[in-house]
Amino acid sequence: MAYVTFRPRPASARIPQRPSFLTHPHPVSTPFDVAIVGLGAMGSSAAYHLARRGQRVVGIDRFSPPHALGSSHGRSRMIREAYYEHPLYVPLVQRAFALWGELERAAGDRPFFMRTGGLMIGEASGALVSGTLASATAHHLQHEVIEARDLHRRYPAFAPLDEMVGVLEHRAGILLPEPIIQAHLELAEHHGATLLRDVQVHGWDRTADGIEIRTGGETIVARQVVVAAGPWTGQLLADLALPLPLPLAVERQVIHWFDPVRFPEYFEPQRMPVSIWELENGTLFYTKPDLGDGVKIGIHHSGLTANADAVDRTISEAEDALIYDLLRRFVPFAKGHMRERAVCLYTNTPDAHFIVDRHPSAPEVLVLSPCSGHGFKFASVLGEIAADLVTTGSSAFDLSPFAIARFGGMSE
Ligand SMILES: Cc1cc2nc3c(=O)[nH]c(=O)nc-3n(C[C@H](O)[C@H](O)[C@H](O)COP(=O)(O)OP(=O)(O)OC[C@H]3O[C@@H](n4cnc5c(N)ncnc54)[C@H](O)[C@@H]3O)c2cc1C
Repeated sequence: MAYVTFRPRPASARIPQRPSFLTHPHPVSTPFDVAIVGLGAMGSSAAYHLARRGQRVVGIDRFSPPHALGSSHGRSRMIREAYYEHPLYVPLVQRAFALWGELERAAGDRPFFMRTGGLMIGEASGALVSGTLASATAHHLQHEVIEARDLHRRYPAFAPLDEMVGVLEHRAGILLPEPIIQAHLELAEHHGATLLRDVQVHGWDRTADGIEIRTGGETIVARQVVVAAGPWTGQLLADLALPLPLPLAVERQVIHWFDPVRFPEYFEPQRMPVSIWELENGTLFYTKPDLGDGVKIGIHHSGLTANADAVDRTISEAEDALIYDLLRRFVPFAKGHMRERAVCLYTNTPDAHFIVDRHPSAPEVLVLSPCSGHGFKFASVLGEIAADLVTTGSSAFDLSPFAIARFGGMSE
């Protein structure tokens, strides 16, 4: 069964250019309605959603997104609906799917999503399979449970153990992170946002005029601030003297890409759903099909903490060996020439749920993210939620699981 939906980009497709009289719609010296600190997955989406509502937006990033120093690089991100982590994410991902489609259209029918189907593979009693089924059942999502032998027959790329089962959901697939961030930023600018690249935010002060944001150069004034600094969030907020530091841990992740050693057709997106595997020892790893740049594989939660400013981007032989072992056991024909490796960062909370909440001592500041290694698929809806919170003060979604107060010791 072919699941891939990858619409070609029409020759005419392009994001409309901003009229020339709007080249600098809001000089940096003007007070803005909202400043967004960080223009990666979350911040670029928030900038787009806020700017299209007519807000005077300034977006600030210490680098020039999309870039490969944070959490949003590596050319693909998985999106899945039967969410094993918790059913509460299902309505969010359903809205995210709709918004990804809208973004494709707003960007001139550029394809940002490729439907491959998704397989969650492990023992039936494990958290991955049972959690996926719990979400699928709670939200009446179409799915199939497939025994190991049938799994291998239908998807010969995979060699599951006899005691494993797979839960197949048809709607899952791949998002393209760098083009998405680029499109969000282009569209935000089209709607009048001022975007400052290679400008680092060092802190802010609350004044009678609003929040004064300190950068290396100019001071920017805004009524509200959205902090979407990904792996730098803890550092940025700690510098700003929260009553207690947020309990955030940056985790170094390694990604590998391989050329299949045989049967490259097994690894085409039409024949290889995105997959997550849970092993008996609790290890989770994921695979993505060959999009022309090799089969992608990574371990979910490497366990190696990092400082976002001093990340060791050298990948060791021991890290390679872990991946070779997983390929040999579970995806054997993918174990050909290693094409590429990369290091990327997760920003984890203790319960792996997000943070979407006001700063405990500065309600004009909204903290968006950190997403504990599973946030990209939600970037579209989190940007919309940020826009709702900034412009109306509320959201249609129950955001209480993402409240800062759950960490304790930090009351509003
Ligand atoms: C290897 C890997 C695989 C993943 N796979 C998936 C997946 O399959 N599906 C999924 O849904 N999610 C996945 N994730 C998680 C997802 O990619 C992240 O949750 C998401 O990209 C985080 O986006 P962000 O905007 O919070 O951070 P980023 O995109 O890193 O953006 C933060 C931005 O803030 C800027 N910044 C920081 N500090 C400052 C400052 N002081 N001043 C100005 N700018 C600043 C940075 O330059 C950066 O551009 C994966 C993550 C990794 C690392």
